[in-house]
Amino acid sequence: MNHTDATNHNKLSVNPTATGVLFTDPAMNEDLYKCVHCGFCLQACPTYIQTGLETESPRGRLALMKGVNEGRLKINDDVTEHWDMCIQCRACEDVCPSGVPYGRLIEETMVQVAKTRKSSVLKNAITWLLLRKILPDQVLLSGLMGVMRIYQKIGLHRLVSAVKMLHIIPGNLGSLHALMPRISDKFFSANGQVYHVFGEPRATVAFLSGCIMPLINEAEMRAAIRVLTRNQVKVIVPEGQGCCGAIHSHVGDLNKAKDLARKNIDAFLSEEIDAVLSSSAGCSTRMKEYRDLLQDDEVYSNKAELLSSKVKDINEFLYELPIDPPKGRLEANVTYQDPCHLAHTQKIKDQPRELLKLIPGLNLIEMRNSDRCCGAGGTYVITQHQMSLKLMEDKMDAIQDTDADIVTTANPGCWLQMKQGSRKSNKSLKVKYITDLLDQSYQAENETIPGIEKVRKVFNQSIWEKEKLELRSQWKNRTGDRRKRRNR
Ligand code: SF4
Ligand code: SF4
Repeated sequence: MNHTDATNHNKLSVNPTATGVLFTDPAMNEDLYKCVHCGFCLQACPTYIQTGLETESPRGRLALMKGVNEGRLKINDDVTEHWDMCIQCRACEDVCPSGVPYGRLIEETMVQVAKTRKSSVLKNAITWLLLRKILPDQVLLSGLMGVMRIYQKIGLHRLVSAVKMLHIIPGNLGSLHALMPRISDKFFSANGQVYHVFGEPRATVAFLSGCIMPLINEAEMRAAIRVLTRNQVKVIVPEGQGCCGAIHSHVGDLNKAKDLARKNIDAFLSEEIDAVLSSSAGCSTRMKEYRDLLQDDEVYSNKAELLSSKVKDINEFLYELPIDPPKGRLEANVTYQDPCHLAHTQKIKDQPRELLKLIPGLNLIEMRNSDRCCGAGGTYVITQHQMSLKLMEDKMDAIQDTDADIVTTANPGCWLQMKQGSRKSNKSLKVKYITDLLDQSYQAENETIPGIEKVRKVFNQSIWEKEKLELRSQWKNRTGDRRKRRNR
């Protein structure tokens, strides 16, 4: 398609109040026509920077939306490939002087694409199984990841990679095998457990466990909870919660995203809490947007509004609390990668840096383009594998130029992508969450602090031990119940 033609045609036929083919909602039509083609967004867009193509820019993608909306273009592969290439990082929104809400427009566009897309029966079946059945069901997902853990532990993963047979696996699955994250030895689970504190809590929060994070970041989630309790914050992990639905929105399955949002609203609003926290920037963004997702839901719109108003990214919360500055020294050169969903959608850029600066001995070095996407992003690593790799390589170069020993971030997608990048380039770079480093510094200070602080530490540890015992007995009960049911 000739883009200049499309853009000129758009200029001639703009009718912001028209009911379009793509967007039937007049408000969305209006938003689409806010774009004045100024091009300020081009240099913020990672796919435009990589390709130099107008069709891979926000302006180009909006022109395609207008083309379809005005009935000049049909939704077919030639059009959808450019929308599919969008990471939905929303860096364009950040710089747009006209306030085009690109994130909302591409989300709705992908809903229409999902309705018209024709895929093979096999692909449809795999997508349905993964997104509709496995991802929303933590028991099924844990089971699957448990099998993968055994696969990794007995060395099959390394063996399959070593015999170089991956090229015979169709599609991107061969490359994905190499991308498989290390599964945690233990899984974190949301069983309604409560992490108490010594004395009066400064706040009571509900903690999002999520879907993938508890299976690959068990230790990191526990570190985040330790940082909270160390700062007198009581933490509840409500039972009945699950995946936030971000991935479903990303691929245009808004119905499932809404189901998951309702489930989380019920789980989190059943607790008396001051805030709902997530260690994943992608999830905290999605949950802050439940109010938009469910605004037309008669039963849930008010509840969604209430929940969204309580959601905070953990780094935002810790900064605002504010935390006790940790005293343990951590001599390291550290750089920070802004997750797109923290920097661009939640506009949280300074808080993570300020938290890092509190750690004695830590030398924070800025990398260039720290808020440019690292190429993760929902299913992007799978569906747009080559572009994802290019973005990851650029990110690794930027990190290497800082000479940092540690790169920190605040989102599991970025964490995984940079782990993969450092493994690929054989670098000794460590990848950490901000809360990992805070926890490390708090742990180090325990050696030197006297009196009441030591008592508090021992108390919190004993609570933690109690927590472990509780979880173990819950697990035994469940296994016993299952056995009983089998034997009946
Ligand atoms: S910056 Fe905004 S108005 Fe300008 S081209 Fe990009 S989307 Fe359109
Ligand atoms: S969301 Fe990101 S990848 Fe998509 S158009 Fe905007 S800047 Fe480009």
